[in-house]
Amino acid sequence: MINLRILYRTDPRVHSCPDCNKPGTLKKSRSRNILEKIIKIISPFSTFRCKECGWRGYKSAYLFTSKSLQAIFIYLILFLVTSYLVSFILKRFIIK
Ligand SMILES: [Zn+2]
Repeated sequence: MINLRILYRTDPRVHSCPDCNKPGTLKKSRSRNILEKIIKIISPFSTFRCKECGWRGYKSAYLFTSKSLQAIFIYLILFLVTSYLVSFILKRFIIK
């Protein structure tokens, strides 16, 4: 079975802190201003704070892996084959 997922959802709270590298210390942080709220709504990034060292920043709940690239490649091939077939049918049967 081919896996066609592009993004993998994970919980950033189990990731290690980018600053002190300790795992499991990240906690969701409340948005401080309008800009942070907008980023939170329109992107997969949320603000997190480290309970150990006080680091605060953005973390994404989604991971992009090498399997993601494989899935994108398969989607690209499907897209090219479909567009070729559509243009072939259009030229052959509809546009004369
Ligand atoms: Zn930390």
